[in-house]
Amino acid sequence: MRETYLSQRVSSLKPSGIRRFFDIAATMQDVISLGIGEPDFDTPRPVVEAGIRSLQQGRTHYTSNAGTIELRRALTANLERLYGVQYDPVNEVVITVGGSEALYLTATALLDPGDEVIIPTPCFVSYQAEVFLAGGVPVEIPCRMEDNFDVDPARIEAAVTPRTKAILLGFPNNPTGAVATRERLLEIARIAEKYDLIVISDEIYDRLVYGGHRHVCFPTLPNMRGRTVLLGGFSKDYAMTGWRIGYACATAPILQGLLRVHQYTVMSAPTIAQDAAVVAIQDEDESVMAMVEEYDRRRRMLVPELNRIGLPTFEPKGAFYAFPKVSVTGLDDETFATRLLQEEKVAIVPGHSFGAGGEGFCRISYATAYEKIEEALRRIERFVNRL
Ligand code: PMP
Repeated sequence: MRETYLSQRVSSLKPSGIRRFFDIAATMQDVISLGIGEPDFDTPRPVVEAGIRSLQQGRTHYTSNAGTIELRRALTANLERLYGVQYDPVNEVVITVGGSEALYLTATALLDPGDEVIIPTPCFVSYQAEVFLAGGVPVEIPCRMEDNFDVDPARIEAAVTPRTKAILLGFPNNPTGAVATRERLLEIARIAEKYDLIVISDEIYDRLVYGGHRHVCFPTLPNMRGRTVLLGGFSKDYAMTGWRIGYACATAPILQGLLRVHQYTVMSAPTIAQDAAVVAIQDEDESVMAMVEEYDRRRRMLVPELNRIGLPTFEPKGAFYAFPKVSVTGLDDETFATRLLQEEKVAIVPGHSFGAGGEGFCRISYATAYEKIEEALRRIERFVNRL
């Protein structure tokens, strides 16, 4: 027998730090989990009903590869309404199995072996893995708390080599909650033009922004529509993680490449989930706003409390994560999270899971009931005071 039948590429891929932690937490009792990156809200009722209706109407077949034209139309109309960006629903959009598939398609369709992708970190755990699985080389650029975890254009430009193909941005950011400023994004746009790079912009948390901050949709920046792949999804904004609907938008020559990969890997996203997503986009603005309001209420309680407890925490402006600097306690992030779980039964995620830029921090999700966050804070305070 061979030692392994797995490819070298897969063998060398580390399992996600998040899952490992939650497998441990799942074996314990009375754990408060502030770890998983998913809304605690159920999908809005009218969306669920649309899914049921779809099933009852016998919509149990494939859709067209790119997704139903109804959903593509609803989506592009919404992007135009929210950000003023225009995509042709016929050949510039693909509906995917979550934002995750959109990311996979993009990496597979764009990268040749050895192509480098510049990725500001900390970032969503899949970015480096997807680039690597597609044969590309992730090049991490740390974002710093002193800089509000915004992207640093100078660092990006310094990382450009003749092999650089793309810059992969994720704002509002998981795990820091940072929202990139327009000024910084304009500088990234300038770099993309200067070196002829593609920008992959994962905007899956686009509607979850707080305190008067505004999300900047990358392809709306001057000259950027043609060199951007816009990624998004329904998991976060509409509390639809289990429905598995996401999307990618790009100009036709790029989008058609993504679509080819999609055709041969998943055929089409789930039909009933696409039908439900149309209702989410067309009728559920108020639900989104109500969820944003509640996330904001938790954020305004959580972040000052973490700072008071002695864990310096940047004020997140989007998504639903706080990112305290735990290294001030003298523990590294892995030890802090492990001991907090063992000693106080609170599950949070060590920051190094999100790339080099996350070392010394931990991610705390506030997509959890207010009262649970309050109790978790009591436990965290007890733990920190003991150190
Ligand atoms: N992008 C980011 C930044 C995320 O945090 C996530 C989920 N955690 C995804 C993409 C993928 O989400 P989904 O596949 O559920 O749409």
